[in-house]
Amino acid sequence: RFGAGLAASLPTPNRAPNVSRIYRRGLNQDVRITRTGKPILTVSGGRSSLGGYTATVFGATGFLGRYIVNRLARSGCTVVVPFREEMAKRHLKVAGDLGRVVFMEFDLRNTASIEESVRHSDIVYNLIGRDYPTKNFDLEDVHIEGAERIAEAVAKYDVDRFVHVSSHSANKNSPSEFYRTKAYGEEAVRSIYPETTIVRPAPMYGSEDRLLNALAGQKNFITSNWMQERFWPVHAIDVGMALEQMLHDDNTASETFELYGPTNYSMAEIAELVDREIIKHRRHINVPKRLWKPAAKILNRALWWPIASADQVEREFIDQTIDRTAKTFKDLEIGPAELKNLSYEYLKGYRSSAFYDLPPQTEREKREERKYLHVID
Ligand code: NDP
Repeated sequence: RFGAGLAASLPTPNRAPNVSRIYRRGLNQDVRITRTGKPILTVSGGRSSLGGYTATVFGATGFLGRYIVNRLARSGCTVVVPFREEMAKRHLKVAGDLGRVVFMEFDLRNTASIEESVRHSDIVYNLIGRDYPTKNFDLEDVHIEGAERIAEAVAKYDVDRFVHVSSHSANKNSPSEFYRTKAYGEEAVRSIYPETTIVRPAPMYGSEDRLLNALAGQKNFITSNWMQERFWPVHAIDVGMALEQMLHDDNTASETFELYGPTNYSMAEIAELVDREIIKHRRHINVPKRLWKPAAKILNRALWWPIASADQVEREFIDQTIDRTAKTFKDLEIGPAELKNLSYEYLKGYRSSAFYDLPPQTEREKREERKYLHVID
């Protein structure tokens, strides 16, 4: 308002505090004492800082994995990434500065490789999980025995913190093997390492999800329950943020967190939202459970790429349940994002190319604030 000349002519004392504030921020550092008494030099200089925690992230090569590796590495932590397949982990290399993301080849049945991955760390995250049984690992191997082996290594090397990602609706009496094994897995890790933080995310959406992408991508989506299952979808970035916060807040040790979004949807309601965003109609074929469940079991065994499994069909008949005694995003002071505010962002790649959005073309369009879709040809 006063013009650049006046700002420049202000006496130096008026401008000096800003300069010193910027300078001090660059040097901001702190020594934190971990739960077991280890001093950690934390710095706020970004991904090139020297210092910070060392974290191991099992299951980093999956969907959620990148959102926690990325957050840790960009704040200057050293991240150990145990991996199985060369190509699956390479996108994580650039998440941190040179030497900050360290890859270790491992096998879930090889205890020595698990111990090697955790022994230098201050925190271990276990994100390993599978929606369907594979040729070499059934759900029990992954969710119970694998989790047990990781918890034993964590306890053996007295790692400060262990965060175990389970699932929403985990229940030992569930008709679904996935939810059952997740519940037994929680019990196993808590009995080995009682300070384990358990995280139960709701179905997650994001760039690489298996929710919006599945609904938008498949022309014929086979379901058994008329898409009536209800849940609170949660943004993967919010879950990543919560996982990072757990590192900095030792009060989260021994706690259980249910992380879910603000709104309850049925799968059919989400499918409707997806169809609206992509301006296409996707067909959903309902096959009765008594036919589709055995067929899905055969497909899961016969094919070597994931199509469906009997347990996935079973899960369509189970609504998400929330344990009200568990902590939530609110306890971490995070406001979870709303699916309908982000669906355009994640689905624009699927939009029909026959339409495009234009700004209002006439006075009437402007007045009515309507979004018109203009057909190209
Ligand atoms: P993904 O399926 O995308 O990733 C799973 C990870 O586990 C991958 O890194 C995979 O490694 C690893 N993994 C699976 N089986 C084995 C095995 N036998 N040995 C070694 N590693 C294995 O899962 P998400 O990122 O979507 O989910 C993370 C966690 O959250 C999982 O535990 C999941 O069960 C849970 N969860 C996810 C929900 C969702 O909506 N996505 C909802 C509720 C819970 P590799 O790349 O080598 O295959």
